[in-house]
Amino acid sequence: MLVFSAICPHPPILIPTIGKDNLEKIKKTQDAMKKLEEDLYASKPELIVIISPHGAMIPDAFSINLNSSYKANFEEFGDFQTKLEFKSSPLLAMKIKERVEGALPLVLSSIDNLDHGAAVPLFYLTKHLKDIEILPITYSFLDYQKHFEFGQLMKKEIAKSEKRIAVIASGDMSHALTQDSPARYSPKGAEFDKKFIQFLQKKDVKGIMKMDSKLIDKAAECGLRSFMILFGILDEYKYEPEIYSYEGPFGVGYLVANFRFV
Ligand SMILES: [Zn+2]
Repeated sequence: MLVFSAICPHPPILIPTIGKDNLEKIKKTQDAMKKLEEDLYASKPELIVIISPHGAMIPDAFSINLNSSYKANFEEFGDFQTKLEFKSSPLLAMKIKERVEGALPLVLSSIDNLDHGAAVPLFYLTKHLKDIEILPITYSFLDYQKHFEFGQLMKKEIAKSEKRIAVIASGDMSHALTQDSPARYSPKGAEFDKKFIQFLQKKDVKGIMKMDSKLIDKAAECGLRSFMILFGILDEYKYEPEIYSYEGPFGVGYLVANFRFV
């Protein structure tokens, strides 16, 4: 059963050994992640489905990483100390595979190391969940509707499972907010982030799905497809979105949002 769901960002600078002094500049995000961790812990999850934009992405197929366990580290960002390890959840993975196959393209992969899109949120969210099972999913470049449908199919297996399941949609908002953004600056970046948050607060998923493709393009986000899968999973649930934080001091929008079931 689904017990928790949230959106969160994945900047490696959120990891204290990497962010160092810069962490002060994203304190709102860090505090929101800590709050999210408390809420997640209170929901007593046994399994976390983590949707990341940065796994081994296959443009025309969704992918599930079905390794026997997972490791995570931040060596590519200069941190050689932090090491995480997680158990896998083969049963739910196989159930989702059976349900999705024939309806949407899906591949199973087997990769030891989690990408930073999964590892950064899990660093915060599993602080007190040492025994948690993980199911890493990577989105595709198929259209938004297909991502929503993939989520709807996953939802059926999540609802049927006896396990208490949390879904975390990892993704950053616009990478074009300021002149020193990683992507080329565009005023469309801030416009996209604002519009997305407005639609989110109104639970207007159709509005998000119909957002102008040029606006999305210029915004240079990486989270939208992760979020679309989550919206598919949440479809027909009664929930209230709660924005815990939004900020973009380094030119990338970081959004932390929890979806409370009502
Ligand atoms: Zn990203």
